[in-house]
Amino acid sequence: MIPQIPENPYILLTPGPLSTSKTVRGAMTRDWCTWDEDYKQIVQKIREELLALSGGGARYTTVLMQGSGTFAVESVMWTCLKPDSKILVLSNGVYGKRMGKIVSMIGAKHRILSWEEGQQPDPKLVEETLQADPEITHIGMVHSETTTGMLNRYEPHARLAEQYGKIFILDAMSSFGGIPLDITSPKVDLLISSANKCIQGVPGFGFVLAQKEVLQSCKGNSKSHSLDLYDQWDAMEQDKGKWRFTSPTHTVRAFLQAIAELHEEGGISVRHERYWANHHALLKGMQAVGIEPFLKAEDRSPIITAFVEPESPTFSFGELYDRLKAEGFVIYPGKVSHAATFRVGHIGHVFPEDFERLGQALQKIKFW
Ligand SMILES: *Cc1c(COP(=O)(O)O)cnc(C)c1O
Repeated sequence: MIPQIPENPYILLTPGPLSTSKTVRGAMTRDWCTWDEDYKQIVQKIREELLALSGGGARYTTVLMQGSGTFAVESVMWTCLKPDSKILVLSNGVYGKRMGKIVSMIGAKHRILSWEEGQQPDPKLVEETLQADPEITHIGMVHSETTTGMLNRYEPHARLAEQYGKIFILDAMSSFGGIPLDITSPKVDLLISSANKCIQGVPGFGFVLAQKEVLQSCKGNSKSHSLDLYDQWDAMEQDKGKWRFTSPTHTVRAFLQAIAELHEEGGISVRHERYWANHHALLKGMQAVGIEPFLKAEDRSPIITAFVEPESPTFSFGELYDRLKAEGFVIYPGKVSHAATFRVGHIGHVFPEDFERLGQALQKIKFW
């Protein structure tokens, strides 16, 4: 007997994979042929839709890349960093650090400026670094630093990049589709995100919105074959929606449904408001049981919130996790290095009512 898969027993309050709608999951019930016209049209439609959502016009293009978001970040680095390039990475959390690790492992010249988690990258220091080190050709940073839930103000850094003639790379993995942004102003040359974050698709691929001219100049540069973003783009362009290698067909079809549902909801700005409403409902429930957020209000984002663990000796994250899971909520461990925190994501097919229920569950289970 083939086992039946039950309905979701809990909602995912995690920043990807996240809770998806039944209709997004339902879009995965048929099979597709990767080189067939029907499928390639879906791919092309997704590429156009993403381009429109970014505000990028004719000067930008979209490339989809198999794998999780990190694969897309790595494909940008392999493809866009040349032997004479040097990238300045701004880091204030795990994902900034990961970007630094990638550029170091691929052997690119680089420099990493680090701030503590919870500290905004300082444009003054970045400008001084650019002035002192003219070898720098690229700047890379994270928009929504999912480690802390911090929304990094990338705009001053993007403006500096433009002013000093550098290529600006933004890991907007956990923000694109959930926070309004115009890729052309201030200019982002390469923006990276993935299927299973704010567009609310299922995992399986990442995507890059790229300034065409920048991507075109990267031909033949990648030393990784499967992560060659230029080649992938070239195939998608030449063969109108064809991926070079096996593509995650079901995920791709579900993603088109997710985009349609983003429009149905009212677009990015309406979704952005819902995510904030989720955050506020969550905060209220947490504060009612004496749990406070890690970041100052002005640094928080509508994506995910880090909370400081209560100091009570009876508190344990493991117990909180298990008890909330039994009540229908899956939360996320912390990642801040210098403080005991845990995180609750508020993106995905989740609503303020869900966070009100979470607040009631917290009252019920409070064990510390
Ligand atoms: C999710 C995420 C990534 C990619 O992580 P994967 O596990 O590879 O999908 C990268 N950067 C940020 C800021 C993220 O939130």
